[in-house]
Amino acid sequence: MTDQDTATADVVDRSTLETYAACPCQGQAVEQRRVMTASAPTEIGTEAHRVIAVAIAAFATGDVSAEGIRELLHTGAQKSRPDVQPEVVSTLRGSAHMISQLLAFREDGEPRHPNDVMRFDGGEGNRSGQLAWEPRLDLPVCTGAVDLLLATESEAELDLYDWKTGRTWFNSTAVSQSFQFAFYSAMIFENYPECDTVNVRVLMTRFSAMAPVVRFARAKLEDYTARILSALTIYDEHRDSPRPPTWPHTAKCQLCPASGICPEATRDVRDFADDPAAGLQQLAVLGAATKTLKAAARAYWKANGEFRAAGLEFGMNKPAKKRAPVPDMYAIAIDTDQGADSCDTP
Ligand code: SF4
Repeated sequence: MTDQDTATADVVDRSTLETYAACPCQGQAVEQRRVMTASAPTEIGTEAHRVIAVAIAAFATGDVSAEGIRELLHTGAQKSRPDVQPEVVSTLRGSAHMISQLLAFREDGEPRHPNDVMRFDGGEGNRSGQLAWEPRLDLPVCTGAVDLLLATESEAELDLYDWKTGRTWFNSTAVSQSFQFAFYSAMIFENYPECDTVNVRVLMTRFSAMAPVVRFARAKLEDYTARILSALTIYDEHRDSPRPPTWPHTAKCQLCPASGICPEATRDVRDFADDPAAGLQQLAVLGAATKTLKAAARAYWKANGEFRAAGLEFGMNKPAKKRAPVPDMYAIAIDTDQGADSCDTP
């Protein structure tokens, strides 16, 4: 598909699709911007990705050494947005060397030619990281942006690099089961017919560690396509639905930005005994909703200062808790001078 086709088509990006596939209610709330999704980790990630993209662009279009790439990463991190700069510096400090090495040298240690950079996030024209694919004519077009796609010695293999700037650890199981990488691999297979294997390499920048390489094979394209089609069908069915279904799960709900408006949070508490499992889910949703509300309250406080309602105040003046002392056993301080005297006493 050309960029012009994508601009006029009904399009959905990978992240939206993945959110709908996890829970249509969350997917719709996020897509329609009814909830706040901005968070410190997201902002740090966006800035760190931008800094890396600038370094890749310099390597791909010029003659920049490994040392030069490292320098670009360091200075880029230092000059990043002031509100997140310390975290961006911290997440890229250790990994700058790894990124410079993987860009400047091939796996066999030979210097890499800039033309090996096939696509990257922030790249332009046919080097843009943005890929599009229309798996079925009656469903929206899928788009996704890869961080870095590198050529290898063989046309049949491509190396896909992804930067993870958060604190989540990715092992080979997490990578191989990830919707994101099945999605990217399917798109690469569709756009590069000669490619049979996508080697996925996830760099966890904060830990300066690379997850084990996971090979996504064209032989499994049918599986990847079925998974994507299933997500696309869910998206297509529920994106305009007045009451999209909720698919609660403790792990998902605890991190859900839509927990504050989720119908799961308003279940009648008197029904707890009828369905304790659902009650437990409700507890998880309410916990997440509390976190979301506190984040909103902090943002309001930052802009407007302390505020009050119904005998409550939100701000920095919360009295410190003081525990009333209770009788207990404790060690007494020994007076060493007195101890010495007592030894001399006959
Ligand atoms: S809190 Fe859970 S059930 Fe509710 S929208 Fe979020 S993920 Fe879905």
